[in-house]
Amino acid sequence: LIELRDVNKHFGSLHVLRDINLTVGRGEVVVVIGPSGSGKSTLCRTVNRLEPVDSGTILLDGRPLPEEGKSLARLRAEVGMVFQSFNLFAHKSVLENVSLAQIKVRGRKKEQAEARSRELLERVGLAAHAGKYPAQLSGGQQQRVAIARALAMDPKALLFDEPTSALDPEMINEVLEVMRQLARDGMTMVVVTHEMGFARSAANRVVFMADGSIVEDRAPEEFFTAPESDRAKDFLSKIL
Ligand code: ATP
Ligand code: MG
Repeated sequence: LIELRDVNKHFGSLHVLRDINLTVGRGEVVVVIGPSGSGKSTLCRTVNRLEPVDSGTILLDGRPLPEEGKSLARLRAEVGMVFQSFNLFAHKSVLENVSLAQIKVRGRKKEQAEARSRELLERVGLAAHAGKYPAQLSGGQQQRVAIARALAMDPKALLFDEPTSALDPEMINEVLEVMRQLARDGMTMVVVTHEMGFARSAANRVVFMADGSIVEDRAPEEFFTAPESDRAKDFLSKIL
C-alpha cells in the first residue's frame, strides 16, 4: 500500500533520510522506533508530503505521490496523520472538529458528516462528549478526537507520530487501546512510538532507525529477543 524506494532527504548538510526502502502492506501495522533525531518524524512527514524528498520514490497504491494542488489534499485525506500535539481547533466543538474536513475535503453534507462523526466518536468512546470544546477534555480524550477526525476521511492508512508522548501516564492506555482496536479492524498503520508494549502486542513489524537509516526491519518477537545490530542492542538496553 505504501512503498518508499531509495528515499533520501537532507536538511542543509544534514542527511536525515538515507536510502530508505520500506514497504507497508494493506492491513499491516509497522512500529518505527529509534533514538531521538534518527529521522522517524521526517519519515512520516515525507509519506504525506509534509516534507519533500531529495531523491527516491514514494508510492501509494502503486502510484507516485502527487506534488501539489487538489490531489495533495486528497493524499492528506487518504493518509491520515496523528501527531503528539493533537492540533484540534480550540474554538470548535468536538463534533465540528471531526466534521469539518469531511465537509471541506470530502464534500459531504453537514448532516451526513455529523452522522459519520457521531459514529466515529462512539468508536473511540467519546459519544457523550460531542458538544464539548477541546479544552474541556483530558489529553487522552483530545487525542481520541484527533484519531476520530483522521478516521473521518476514510483513510487508506494512518500515520501516528508519538501519539502518546504528550499524555499523562494514566491516559496513555486509553489511546493505545483505540489504536489496538484499529489494528484489529485491519487499518494500515505506521506508528512512531516509545511504547514497547504496543510494539510487541500490535505490530506486525518493527522498523529500527538510527542516523537516518533503517537498521532493522523485523517481526517484533525477533527484534526484541534477538536484535542483530549493536545500535539496536544499545538502544534496547537503555529503554527496556
Ligand atoms: P525524535 O525522537 O526526537 O522525535 P526523530 O527521529 O523524529 O526524533 P526527526 O524529527 O525526523 O527525528 O529529525 C531528524 C533530524 O533532522 C534531526 O537531527 C533534526 O534536528 C533534523 N530536522 C528535523 N526537522 C528539521 C527542519 N525542519 N530543519 C532542519 N533540520 C531538521
Ligand atoms: Mg520525532
